[in-house]
Amino acid sequence: MLYDNHGRQLRYLRLAVTDRCNLRCFYCMPEEGLNFSKRSQLLSYEELHRLVSILSELGISKVRITGGEPFVRKDIIPFMEQLTKIEGIEALSITTNGTDLVRHIPALKAMGIRSVNLSLDSLNKNRFHKITRRDEFEEVMNSYQALIGSGITTKINAVVMEEHNLEDIYLMCELTQNDPVSVRFIEEMPFNGGSKGYTPIKWNKGRILQHIKEAFPNLVKLEDEESSTSINYKIPGAKGAIGIIPAYTRTICGSCDRIRLTPKGELMTCLYQAKGFSFRDFMREGVSDQEIKNQFLKLFANRAKDGFEAEAISNKNGSLQSMATIGG
Ligand code: SAM
Ligand code: SF4
Repeated sequence: MLYDNHGRQLRYLRLAVTDRCNLRCFYCMPEEGLNFSKRSQLLSYEELHRLVSILSELGISKVRITGGEPFVRKDIIPFMEQLTKIEGIEALSITTNGTDLVRHIPALKAMGIRSVNLSLDSLNKNRFHKITRRDEFEEVMNSYQALIGSGITTKINAVVMEEHNLEDIYLMCELTQNDPVSVRFIEEMPFNGGSKGYTPIKWNKGRILQHIKEAFPNLVKLEDEESSTSINYKIPGAKGAIGIIPAYTRTICGSCDRIRLTPKGELMTCLYQAKGFSFRDFMREGVSDQEIKNQFLKLFANRAKDGFEAEAISNKNGSLQSMATIGG
């Protein structure tokens, strides 16, 4: 088993395979996009596979594919199939914006993917368009329906934003009554790639919960899994669940079991750190697997206590970073 310097077990890798995306969610990147990486700057599939294999030997057992939008990278499905064959990787999952998901669902099922996170901030076409700056609402809703029909565990990620989707909070809660879906409301974080400045959020976890309880006073608290990113609730009798992810107020750092590899191969032991160690450059120097292993262990032994400590050390303007380049 793998532990960090604060006694937290590390189990979970978020693997960002690209920083590119076909949407332009305003809380994630500017309208004109980011300074996207060239192919040679990204880790190749061979390099990604090597790092995941080494991490699995160290104790990582869960991998989530993310980005950017993972389905814009060519051959992502065969790559994921390769990952499922790595000994020690017990669960592989993916986070997607759902614009190009329907046709991939059979392949995801066939390779044993049991859970998909679908990012969907609004159930209204116009509000969806304003947030994502693209006209893909129908495709994403089709993906949602197909996922629910497929039996794959489905979680919706919805960032809560004043003036953009507060109306959707109740609509999403209602969705959980008839569909077996977990809707997770996420506090907005500063990582918007310069799309806008960042003023501390008005809708933190307490306010989101209070708002939900005003419409659903019988809301029941569920027991959270160890290292869960969300604090979970249920409307009595509902098929699904409601979660709140305190991504900004960071009350879940004490049990954080996650590490990230950015599309350029930097290891982030905390989302709020400014820069990570480049395994891409290190590997391209021709180092051995053992040297890579030692380097991982060194970084895990120097992990920030929580997101506030990591942010204080980084001393950078968070809003200039994007979740697409960090790996959401
Ligand atoms: N493109 C895929 C998607 O949207 O699902 C995967 C990558 S995206 C960066 C992963 C998650 O990060 C999404 O659920 C998105 O809503 C969330 N995210 C992006 N920027 C965020 C921000 N500034 N604050 C909170 N969540 C954010
Ligand atoms: Fe793309 Fe996901 Fe960022 Fe939206 S949140 S712009 S879908 S990477």
